[in-house]
Amino acid sequence: MDKIQNIVILGGGESGYGSAVLAKSKGFGTFLSDSGTLSEKYRNLLVAEGVEFEEGGHSEERVLAADLVVKSPGIPEKAPIIVKLREKGVRIVSEMEFARPFSKGRTICITGSNGKTTTTTLTHRILAEAGLDVAVGGNIGESYALTVAKCDREWYVLELSSFQLDGCYDFRADVGVLMNITPDHLDRYNYKFQNYVDSKMRIIRNQRPEDHFIFSADDQTIATEVEKLHPAALLSPFGKCNISEGVACVRLGEKEVRIDLDRLHIKGLHNAYNAMAATLAALAAGVAEENILRTLYSFEGVEHRLERVCEIEGVEWINDSKATNVDSVWYALESMRRPTVWIAGGTDKGNDYEPLMDFVGKKVKALVCMGVNNAKLLDNFKGKVPVYDTHSLDEAVEVCRQVAQSGDTVLLSPACASFDLFRNYEERGRLFKNKVLELRVKS
Ligand code: ADP
Repeated sequence: MDKIQNIVILGGGESGYGSAVLAKSKGFGTFLSDSGTLSEKYRNLLVAEGVEFEEGGHSEERVLAADLVVKSPGIPEKAPIIVKLREKGVRIVSEMEFARPFSKGRTICITGSNGKTTTTTLTHRILAEAGLDVAVGGNIGESYALTVAKCDREWYVLELSSFQLDGCYDFRADVGVLMNITPDHLDRYNYKFQNYVDSKMRIIRNQRPEDHFIFSADDQTIATEVEKLHPAALLSPFGKCNISEGVACVRLGEKEVRIDLDRLHIKGLHNAYNAMAATLAALAAGVAEENILRTLYSFEGVEHRLERVCEIEGVEWINDSKATNVDSVWYALESMRRPTVWIAGGTDKGNDYEPLMDFVGKKVKALVCMGVNNAKLLDNFKGKVPVYDTHSLDEAVEVCRQVAQSGDTVLLSPACASFDLFRNYEERGRLFKNKVLELRVKS
């Protein structure tokens, strides 16, 4: 940082805003530039903090004159301004890379294709309820950079996407957690799975022998990478082999925690993985077994992730709107214990539905497609199970109401992005819940 005077922050969302506040507070020349429109919230905050900014386009000359660029994770490598910065050789880093040297705190960094938010939220809650001085960051809540600027903590639990990891070079996770690696976001990785895998494996970069690396032993891709890369940190794998007769037994060094899976509110094998990972991370932070178990058994899960809405005339309705890829739907269906009417569809991300075929006709009694264009789902599932072609939430919920019988579950777990009919997955989930609750009032 010695020779750096001027920092440009690209992107004015939570991450960019936090980076700008940190940069300014450390005395750097700070300028934030966003090619789109800033939300009113961040515009007002930037004004209040006295940060210079622009929106609706980049002043190229000023951006290219930066000594360091902090890039928001949503901006792809092929964005013209990034291409130009790379050509000029300007250093581009992520918020974590930039903020880390200014913090005295230790980091628990959680990544993976699925389960990040659930595991991050759970881990943070365990540490907080055990009385540690801890903040959550990354994709959740207030940004890491902002917390470092305003009130540095002893511990940080950070949810890291592959895009954030891509901009990390010297950053080091004291505790790295890797949940799984399954194909996702391939459009940002030249459609090469290995590029995405390499990005996820950056979680172990710079780790030292006294650090921890917690990872799924059931994920073949991770197993191969661990063999290839020989991580320096203490290795703590978790997997099905830790589970026997409804109890997951995890060990970190001398310490052991036995989790009674029946006592968890969050259900399914994937949530057993999430609970094991959070437990190991909390053990690495020195939390005692009784404190870990107390939080594990009271944790109700995160909104839009297998969230039980209500039961109406014997039919259970579940909102899993966050399931935007095939792997998360696999785990949702795996966890179903009743005949399931499955709502899927939206913007396809190059899905291969083959892994779900085993559930069809067994757990899945009907598929209700909900999207502008359902052709791919219809092609894959027609003839295997009753399939309904609907094009709005109202239509889909109405079909489910007619098809589901007492004892069934209706599961919204789309396997697709939401942008054809909704603003985002949160809006899809909220509107679904509202519609279902309206049904309950009428029934
Ligand atoms: P992320 O932050 O990685 O997207 P979330 O915790 O938000 O992960 O969960 C996203 C979706 O994946 C939800 O549908 C959830 O039910 C499912 N899921 C949660 N944990 C796992 C896991 N360990 N493996 C596979 N799917 C999971």
